[in-house]
Amino acid sequence: MDCLFCKIVEGSIPAKVLMETDNVLVFHDIQPAAPVHVLIIPKKHIASMNDVTAEDLGVIGEMHQAAQQAARKLGVDQSGYRLINNCGPDSGQAVHHLHYHLLGGAKLGALTG
Ligand code: IMP
Repeated sequence: MDCLFCKIVEGSIPAKVLMETDNVLVFHDIQPAAPVHVLIIPKKHIASMNDVTAEDLGVIGEMHQAAQQAARKLGVDQSGYRLINNCGPDSGQAVHHLHYHLLGGAKLGALTG
C-alpha cells in the first residue's frame, strides 16, 4: 500500500520516534506547527476517523494513552497541549492514515473554523 505513515511504521522511511508500543507509534512531525508537535498513529492502516470500526476501539484507547505519556515525556502535561485529528478534505487531512497531532510548548491560538 502506498501510505507514507505505513512506510514509517515499516521503517522504510525514517522518522524521529518518541515512543513505540505493539500497536501505536509516536514520532515528531517533520514540519512542526508548535514547539512540541508529535503525531500519534496506529500501526494498523486506518485511513481516517471515518474508517474506525468497533474492532479498532482498543487501539484508539491506546492512542489516547500514548498521547498522555508523550505529553508527559515532552514536558507539556502540566502546561497544556492540544490533540487534533483532521478528517477529510475540509479539515486539510493530507496523510490518509489516522493520526492525532499533539501540539504544545507555547500558548496555542484559538481554534478557528
Ligand atoms: P494532516 O494534514 O492532518 O494529514 O497532517 C499530516 C502531517 O504529517 C503534517 O503535519 C506533516 O507535516 C506531517 N508529515 C508529513 N510527512 C511526514 C514525515 O515524513 N515525517 C513526519 N511527519 C510528516
